[in-house]
Amino acid sequence: MGTIDGLPPLREVIEAHDLVAKKQLGQNFLLDLNLTAKIARCAGDLTGYDVLEVGPGPGGLTRGLLAEGARHVVAVEKDARALPALAEIAAAYPGRLTVLHGDALELDLTAHLKPPVKVVANLPYNVGTELLIRWLSPPAWPPFWQSLTLMFQKEVAERIVAKPRTDHYGRLALLAQWRAEARIVMSLPPEAFTPAPKVHSAVVHLTRLEEPRYPADGRVLARITAMAFNQRRKMLRSSLKGLAPDVEDRLLAVGIPPTARAEEIGLEAFCALARNIAG
Ligand code: SAM
Repeated sequence: MGTIDGLPPLREVIEAHDLVAKKQLGQNFLLDLNLTAKIARCAGDLTGYDVLEVGPGPGGLTRGLLAEGARHVVAVEKDARALPALAEIAAAYPGRLTVLHGDALELDLTAHLKPPVKVVANLPYNVGTELLIRWLSPPAWPPFWQSLTLMFQKEVAERIVAKPRTDHYGRLALLAQWRAEARIVMSLPPEAFTPAPKVHSAVVHLTRLEEPRYPADGRVLARITAMAFNQRRKMLRSSLKGLAPDVEDRLLAVGIPPTARAEEIGLEAFCALARNIAG
């Protein structure tokens, strides 16, 4: 059966290159090119953008990104077994795909990208969360990317977009929403992947804000939220005791009841507390 880009169907690619999924690399592949094109479209218009893709594997999403018109895709893959399949895609889209072999957590990815940049990836859970935190906490803001469109376990996606007074609310929600607009744009059942994982997945789309939503020193905010959520069931006057000797007064000064718990406090109030502590 023919495909939109003239390349073989992904099942054939996997068979031809013996790409048996490896659990330790978090390999759950997307083999439906209609679905990968749909995920690529979640990132919005790609024409005129360089796209960073982490973990292309056999290249289903890569093909979606190229077919949707990305100016240039830079794809970083740790598994050398996937490189021949990716080379075939590069040959079908001359000059538009650069494949880097290595660990996305170790390579300097920005060196290969020209602005404006969008990031799109279907990554293993642990690597995805770590990269998201890095991308949201660069030394300088605004960061190298305009938007991040990332597949996560559904539970992690819910932690990113969570609002106060909900089960999933915590440090990840605060970090993401302080510097970006974050939305779940697609949900996928386990059967969408080969092999099927145990859990549901979701695509989160984050658009960067030019300035953080409320002023605060990122390091102070990170420290406060780490302390507050490490003991999320405790009252803030107790979980934040180590922050300052007069922490109760400081909480009151920014309108936070000292008896409140971390999960009840919104981003704006945490930022006000961070300014009070830093000031
Ligand atoms: N994007 C492909 C798809 O949607 O079918 C593959 C997704 S699979 C969930 C994750 C991919 O990330 C695998 O190809 C795996 O080898 C790769 N990977 C895992 N850890 C990585 C890392 N640290 N750096 C780069 N790639 C990694």
